Amino acid sequence: MITLDELRQLTDDQLIEKLAVDVMGWQNVWCMKCHNTGMHLGKYRMPCRDCASWRGLGLTLPPRPWNPLTDWNHWREVELKLMEDETLWHDFLKALSAITGDITHHIGVYMEADLPTRVSALISAHQELYGK
Ligand SMILES: [Zn+2]
Repeated sequence: MITLDELRQLTDDQLIEKLAVDVMGWQNVWCMKCHNTGMHLGKYRMPCRDCASWRGLGLTLPPRPWNPLTDWNHWREVELKLMEDETLWHDFLKALSAITGDITHHIGVYMEADLPTRVSALISAHQELYGK
């Protein structure tokens, strides 16, 4: 399980990638430019994390940036995915309570949490529940 201290050491890009791959189920693909695996296929696409190319990933249009740490619309997409899984939703609220120090598990904790806190809690809960 990833600890909160370990989560705090991740960069924003690493958090977003973890969320995209582990929680959203996006896939890494091979980059023809730098020959590393570099992006995630989903509704939104990301450029290669190593060379920032999008053509190397076979895209014909530049990707739209996906950042659920700052964009509430992108978080909403994560939230919809999250709500499909009742156990994960429950464990997410528990993790959020642990992070914020509010042990009531009430929806108010969720409403007051900022996006980076939500993302960290979700990654932590997902890791604990599914091992990734
Ligand atoms: Zn690349």
